[in-house]
Amino acid sequence: MPAQPKPLDLVHGASPTGDPWLLTPGPLTTSPTVKEAMLHDYGSRDTHFIAVNANMRKRLTALVNGGDDFVCVPLQGSGTFVVEAMLGNFVGPKDKLLILVNGAYGTRMARICDYYGREFVVQETPEDVPVDTQALDRALSEDPDITHVAVVHCETTSGILNPIEDVSEIVKKHGRRLLVDAMSAFGAIPLDSRVVHFDAAVASSNKCLEGVPGLGFCIARKDALAATKDSSPSLSLDLHDQWQAMEGNGQWRFTPPTHCILAFDKALDEFEEEGGVAGRGGRYRENCRILVEGMSALGFSTLLPDALQAPIIVTFHMPADPKFDFQEFYDRLRARNFVIYPGKLTVADSFRIGCIGRLGADEMHAALAVIRETLGEMGVTNCAPAETAA
Ligand SMILES: *Cc1c(COP(=O)(O)O)cnc(C)c1O
Repeated sequence: MPAQPKPLDLVHGASPTGDPWLLTPGPLTTSPTVKEAMLHDYGSRDTHFIAVNANMRKRLTALVNGGDDFVCVPLQGSGTFVVEAMLGNFVGPKDKLLILVNGAYGTRMARICDYYGREFVVQETPEDVPVDTQALDRALSEDPDITHVAVVHCETTSGILNPIEDVSEIVKKHGRRLLVDAMSAFGAIPLDSRVVHFDAAVASSNKCLEGVPGLGFCIARKDALAATKDSSPSLSLDLHDQWQAMEGNGQWRFTPPTHCILAFDKALDEFEEEGGVAGRGGRYRENCRILVEGMSALGFSTLLPDALQAPIIVTFHMPADPKFDFQEFYDRLRARNFVIYPGKLTVADSFRIGCIGRLGADEMHAALAVIRETLGEMGVTNCAPAETAA
């Protein structure tokens, strides 16, 4: 059995609440000040709350340089709710969607289309290979019925960065429309609406923007969103209705996640103080570098080459050493206040460690120290995967 949890004093800037550090794809570690921002109760019609909500929408639109052509529509729920809302609104009953799949989140979009009875085709690459832009180009040439293309910016399944600028160029060249699941990259990797020509992009409060879970948002081209009136098969997920209602009186149609929005407002302040996408992305890239170098020094190997690795979450091959039992490894790290994540791959046996959330170099070094100790306790001597263990 793992030892009693150690106090967090081994970590500089330890969480005052004694919570574990979440090296996961979300929910993530948030700052004490973001948590504190939730210590208020506002009614949905409160003028302060309405102002905070309007400001949040403006700031998110500005983040993609959306100007007056784009609008941000927030929605209650986890990220999947707003992915589903985007597909429900933008892919109409007469449309056909091509989904670029290289992981579980792309596959999930196909499931959503199944539920909604929307026509779609899937173009799939393995989880460790970026989406195939040449095949996309061919598919759009050959099938004039395809109206929309959906792509995941960072496929969190593996941590791979997809070439959405190239995807955007091809989709634009063919005069089709682009939908982006930017969930795990938004705020850390640039997404500029003047460069990536999307009709809609979705993300959530609790990933790189370091808010708490509870809302997603869609940033949409106004004219494209306007054309989705009566398109959604769902009332609660109808982004057009949500947009129109919010423009009308500044309020959410249904109970807003008030505490989550207050926390998100604070998280956006802290994001801006850190230098926006450049600052946030810079810290995550440094976290990722420390993690990958440290794990490599311990003998682990990453699924992805550095060039394909987004600084969001890193997939490591499972060591072949029979003494390495993932559940035991996980439990022992958890007992020392570090939470890692199982793998979700079909191509390889793996686990994942995240680089995002309110974590910096000190926490990454502390995590590596704890991993080293844990491997020692487990008697693991070789962290190489099966393929290269011999
Ligand atoms: C996190 C994530 C989602 C949404 O997942 P939820 O668990 O519903 O919040 C969607 N797409 C990607 C790429 C993600 O990383």
